[in-house]
Amino acid sequence: MSRSAHPAGPRHADVLPEGHYSAPAADLNALDEKVWSRTVTRDADGALTVGGIAVARLAEEFGTPAYFLDESDFRARCRAWADAFGPDADVFYAGKAFLSRAVVRWLKEEGLNLDVCSGGELTTALDAGMPAERIAFHGNNKTVAEIERAVEAGVGRIVLDSFQEIVRVAHIAQRHGVRQRVQIRVTVGVEAHTHEFIATAHEDQKFGIALADGQAAEAVRRALSLDGLELIGVHSHIGSQIFDMAGFEVSARRVVQLLAEIRDEHGVELPEIDLGGGLGIAYTSEDDPREPHEIAKALSDIVTRECEAAKLRTPRISVEPGRAIVGPTAFTLYEVGTIKPLEGLRTYVSVDGGMSDNIRTALYDAEYSVALVSRTSDAGPMLVRVVGKHCESGDIVVKDAFLPADLAPGDLIAVPATGAYCRSMASNYNHALRPPVVAVRDGEARVIVRRETEEDLLRLDVG
Ligand SMILES: *Cc1c(COP(=O)(O)O)cnc(C)c1O
Repeated sequence: MSRSAHPAGPRHADVLPEGHYSAPAADLNALDEKVWSRTVTRDADGALTVGGIAVARLAEEFGTPAYFLDESDFRARCRAWADAFGPDADVFYAGKAFLSRAVVRWLKEEGLNLDVCSGGELTTALDAGMPAERIAFHGNNKTVAEIERAVEAGVGRIVLDSFQEIVRVAHIAQRHGVRQRVQIRVTVGVEAHTHEFIATAHEDQKFGIALADGQAAEAVRRALSLDGLELIGVHSHIGSQIFDMAGFEVSARRVVQLLAEIRDEHGVELPEIDLGGGLGIAYTSEDDPREPHEIAKALSDIVTRECEAAKLRTPRISVEPGRAIVGPTAFTLYEVGTIKPLEGLRTYVSVDGGMSDNIRTALYDAEYSVALVSRTSDAGPMLVRVVGKHCESGDIVVKDAFLPADLAPGDLIAVPATGAYCRSMASNYNHALRPPVVAVRDGEARVIVRRETEEDLLRLDVG
């Protein structure tokens, strides 16, 4: 079995040593197409444009900070995933990466399905007209009220995450006189991050039911015995920001083994397996993500091979990319406020947002790139740390990067690849007003999630 481990443990596999940063790009004005959305380019004046609109105009019309989402790129990525997996597989967009009613409509139009993991996400999906049978409901502690709403709406599947939930969902479905289609989420003992993964017998985390010690087999036994449930398959999600397919290989092998055990014990071949999401994207020029068709081929080859070996019919595969679809399609636009050179260290560049619009750097030590986008510059590189305006020294947006040394207050800078887990994890810390999401396409920009206002803050504060 292939096995690799990072000395600092799997959670730290994507964290580079303290003080690590890549050398400055040869041309600081160049926009690496790997990290920018597809319609991003510079116009004749050197300003960055997206969907044909220059950032100065966007900043003037929508303010900063703001997220600008390249709609045609988003749609193209949806189509690429759907085409790569074809009609015999299902692609579920993981709504937690970023969800809004406009996004739901795009997904619906482009033929994707949708994962939700809360009542709020379910409401957004249904309100925007996603057919319930194309929705999967996830979560390790769905409330009774959430399960009831999902069952009543007729969601295509509920992914069961615990022994309690097996009974809970069965009971609710029976009360509603339906058989709810369900999958069981199993933990296969694979934790994968970036280029590393660890295969173990046990996993120390809150999600799913362990394959180890026959737990998952017992869950299947119970689910098959309950009238309210139609068990359609097994689900496994192994990590996030993964580039190496080896973790999926171990996971698929273990899931197929379980399917074979189920057949031997119960005489049923479950028709579906879900291999989760977690596919990596480029946050910096050093990242090399795979294309959807390579991922589709790798996953389908693994599953086909393992099923042949176990003499099983190949199940229908589903996948759940979130970041890989929306992540690369947006950038955050900031205005530079203050610049503090710290002699012999680096220059701190403060912007008008921060950890309230991008918590990933503080939370995961995530790496990002940044560029001066309101103009080009011939100045040499200076090492910067882009920080926010919050009362917290960990309020860092980009830990180490290079910007032109003539950077000045009032310049616009942009951080690419902020489409996933930025707006969806945004907070009101320091009573910050969460930024808008503006969709840009073919020379038109429109707000799909508006900026919060001080009235919004006061409306929740009932005095
Ligand atoms: C978070 C999550 C995903 C999506 O992960 P990405 O890294 O955004 O692709 C998919 N499936 C499940 C069960 C998840 O929890």
